[in-house]
Amino acid sequence: MRTIFHLDLDSFFVSVERIFDPLLNGKPVIVGANPEYGRGVVAACSYEAREYGLHSAMPIRQAYRLCPNGIYLHGHHKEYSRFSKAVKHLLKQYAPQIEQASIDEFYMDFTGTQRIYGSMFAFASKLQKEIQEKLSLPCSIGIGSNKTIAKICSDYAKPKGITYVLPGMEKEFLSPLPVEIIPGVGKVMQKALHEKGFRIIGDITKVPEDYFLVAFGKYGSALWKKANGGGHKYLNPPQKRKSISKERTYGKDEINKTKIETTLFKLTGEVCQLLRNKNWQASTISIKLRYSDFVTLTREKTIKPTDDDKIIFDTALNLFRKAYTRRVSIRLIGIRLTKFSEFSEQEFLFDDKDTIRKKMFRAITKIRDKFGYSSIKLGDA
Ligand SMILES: [Mg+2]
Repeated sequence: MRTIFHLDLDSFFVSVERIFDPLLNGKPVIVGANPEYGRGVVAACSYEAREYGLHSAMPIRQAYRLCPNGIYLHGHHKEYSRFSKAVKHLLKQYAPQIEQASIDEFYMDFTGTQRIYGSMFAFASKLQKEIQEKLSLPCSIGIGSNKTIAKICSDYAKPKGITYVLPGMEKEFLSPLPVEIIPGVGKVMQKALHEKGFRIIGDITKVPEDYFLVAFGKYGSALWKKANGGGHKYLNPPQKRKSISKERTYGKDEINKTKIETTLFKLTGEVCQLLRNKNWQASTISIKLRYSDFVTLTREKTIKPTDDDKIIFDTALNLFRKAYTRRVSIRLIGIRLTKFSEFSEQEFLFDDKDTIRKKMFRAITKIRDKFGYSSIKLGDA
């Protein structure tokens, strides 16, 4: 029997905004599109805003009609990403296995840890308190014998709650709940289920699996199993991080060294942007050169993990200058970043000497995300 936790941060984006601006506490706060432009959706909203009928993914125009006095924020996505990493870092200290399902959701497998952590319910409560105290983030936790049950439980517990469905009690717990709380049941499926008279999960379990297989195909069969308390018992293994690379093939082979270096500079900016969007740091920098006679070479160097354009460009430029020895024109130039480092605690030391530089690059990332990559060009300073 497995013990799976699903931890979900409560109105996560809003909670982060409140850390930076405590005046937002207790108020209807909406993170998402600008209501003045009328396009876009609600990315997240506070529980106070939900009382007006707002929910995430709702068109911003509709949200504004329902809650004109709400505080509408564009949000700070880079900060959300940093806090998400910090939560994961904290959870990793306890969880033998963790799977991040989204920026604010984590599955953890605590099977067989009762001897270390004691009662799973009390342990969940301890985790919840620690995240609140250390990171000022409220969360809800669901505990069950599989991922589906755990996810339904955390949703059931919101906000700031814990729900633990004891093994063997899955069907009883689910029976009175509305069908749309089953993960994967969207608006279309909900309507289809309602039309056939299935309103609560208990309605589904009354009919045989074959009925669902005939009515809804394979998906129906999976749904029937979930309604009966089934679900994945094991977490997905962590995905291997690949590389980030960019290359440029010249339409006409290039021999002008300055022009090639300018291309390398641009490509470096692009890969660094992607790197920072992932919230990673890279430690191996490689360049690739292809001469017009198709002789291809790569050079690489490993340095201290970084996401700094300047450091990465200087390294790449050095590699290029050492590698470009023939008096032959270049067909292709490329840069590749690998060996990504795990989040380091250091990122959270706000008084770190590197901070100003990091802040500057975060600002650049934000501007580029908003206005396009070429909106800012860095000088070779
Ligand atoms: Mg959440």
